[in-house]
Amino acid sequence: MSSASDMPLLTRLIASGLSVSEKSAKCVQRIFQNGNLKIEDKGGLKNYQTIADRKIEQLLVGNIEKHFPGIAIVGEEGEVGKIELAEDWIDYQDSLSEFNSKFASEMAGAKIPEIVDPKDIVLWLDPLDGTAEFIDGLLEHVTTLIGIAYQGRPIAGIINQPFYKNSDNSLGRSIWGIVGVGAFGFQRKDKLPGRILTTSRSHMDETVKACIEAMEPTQILRMGGAGNKVLQLIENNAHAYIFASPGCKKWDTCAPEAILLALGGKLVDVHGNELLYHKDVQQPNKGGVIAAVEDVDFYLSKIPQAIKDKLNP
Ligand code: AMP
Ligand code: MG
Ligand code: MG
Repeated sequence: MSSASDMPLLTRLIASGLSVSEKSAKCVQRIFQNGNLKIEDKGGLKNYQTIADRKIEQLLVGNIEKHFPGIAIVGEEGEVGKIELAEDWIDYQDSLSEFNSKFASEMAGAKIPEIVDPKDIVLWLDPLDGTAEFIDGLLEHVTTLIGIAYQGRPIAGIINQPFYKNSDNSLGRSIWGIVGVGAFGFQRKDKLPGRILTTSRSHMDETVKACIEAMEPTQILRMGGAGNKVLQLIENNAHAYIFASPGCKKWDTCAPEAILLALGGKLVDVHGNELLYHKDVQQPNKGGVIAAVEDVDFYLSKIPQAIKDKLNP
């Protein structure tokens, strides 16, 4: 690649998305230190919003629409772009050059999916995934999700984990992937024995429990966030993510699904259907979420018919 301006649209979206993620991570770290989360109840089961959810979405939308005008964006909180601090603007050209130098070897020879019409792109944003855990101080469960869908299916995604503790004691990391290219920013450990399932900590109900039990797990990891649970899969801390409930939305699954697909994994509903991400699609994942890097069909085969009948997509 000779210069940043030759970069394909998708690569520019990822490069600037990674730069925006660093800004959003600083934003949520700042808000947590400040201590006043300004919690609002959106109604239903542990369905909260804090000032971090609102501010991060404003920061993401503000930066993205400046550099990618006309690309459709759907964010969980329905916020408009608004940058309040000068330090929250990304330097677009720098983000492209930084990406090119940092990921030169990953991108060498990579077949980046071609975007024929940018109108076919939808960005699905979850400014803070795992808000209930953020409020409870379980900071490592919290992520910011930037999913990129093209013609209704995920093609790339970023999961930023702002409170991840790096080995040098710095805070925060970004995991990203492009379907057909690969996923980066994490270490995949050796596979653990047994059948370790990860599921919700804050949004459990009888159907979710019954579905998990039908799979005869050797261990259950109850954790916050769809992003965080997919991180458990890609790092090999868990074998499958099981959530037989209609509570998860498209902004929760788009970026994690793209990263799973980039690794050869799958994220589907309890019927085995692929999820669709067009702009005007029904936002709740009414058929539930079943995800794994390997053997998704095995987990699907264990779901009782009564549970499948309950979750109409
Ligand atoms: P969890 O695994 O409980 O963290 O849920 C994953 C994502 O789905 C989070 O963004 C939750 O806010 C959302 N979610 C799951 N169940 C519900 C629910 N019953 N009501 C509202 N949001 C939900
Ligand atoms: Mg979420
Ligand atoms: Mg959220």
